[in-house]
Amino acid sequence: MLNGAEHTSLRLWNEQAIPVTACCLDIGIKKLPNPQHQFAIGIDQALFFTNQSRAAKLSEDGISVVSIAKYHNPMEELNVNADKKQLESVMDLLHPGWRKEVVVQQFLPKLTVSYDFPHVKRKRNPGPSIPEMKGIFIAGDWAGHEEVLADAAVASGKRAALEILHVNEMVLAKEG
Ligand SMILES: Cc1cc2nc3c(=O)[nH]c(=O)nc-3n(C[C@H](O)[C@H](O)[C@H](O)COP(=O)(O)OP(=O)(O)OC[C@H]3O[C@@H](n4cnc5c(N)ncnc54)[C@H](O)[C@@H]3O)c2cc1C
Repeated sequence: MLNGAEHTSLRLWNEQAIPVTACCLDIGIKKLPNPQHQFAIGIDQALFFTNQSRAAKLSEDGISVVSIAKYHNPMEELNVNADKKQLESVMDLLHPGWRKEVVVQQFLPKLTVSYDFPHVKRKRNPGPSIPEMKGIFIAGDWAGHEEVLADAAVASGKRAALEILHVNEMVLAKEG
């Protein structure tokens, strides 16, 4: 979006970025076979199940909408079929017989959760200013320094705001 970005730090931040991706199976279901299993999170696997309809009205006819997601390992090659089977097998474990209750479902094989996160291969943290482009500041969940996700979005926004105030103060001081 920025002309000449490839000649600035944006290029390094782009090159060093490791996007976090996930696959997700969304299911519209008449009822959950095991009502005790409303939420589950993997400890030894990056899996996550939640019944979104516990908190939100997502259908007009009482159908529940549940999601099961898996974070990808960026070091491993994507295997869409294996991912889908794995998500279905977790449903088998949590909700035996779930297939009989399904009204509609969609499988999303690769969603970008965040375009970067603080990892050890980073050479330099992104932002808040772009040193080679005066007056442009960056924020977003990919621009976290130690933070991730919403925390990174807010923290990087705060860093950008403070930097803008600092730059303005210096300009005002120069103008006397
Ligand atoms: C299902 C789900 C669950 C999540 N759960 C959690 C959680 O439990 N805890 C947590 O901390 N985080 C969670 N997150 C992550 C969190 O929502 C994000 O990290 C956060 O919203 C990122 O904020 P952001 O401002 O960086 O980006 P975004 O919220 O993605 O905002 C970017 C904005 O830019 C706009 N945009 C994009 N391109 C253009 C363009 N060319 N021109 C103009 N506008 C543009 C987009 O429309 C969007 O409004 C979750 C995310 C999802 C999807």
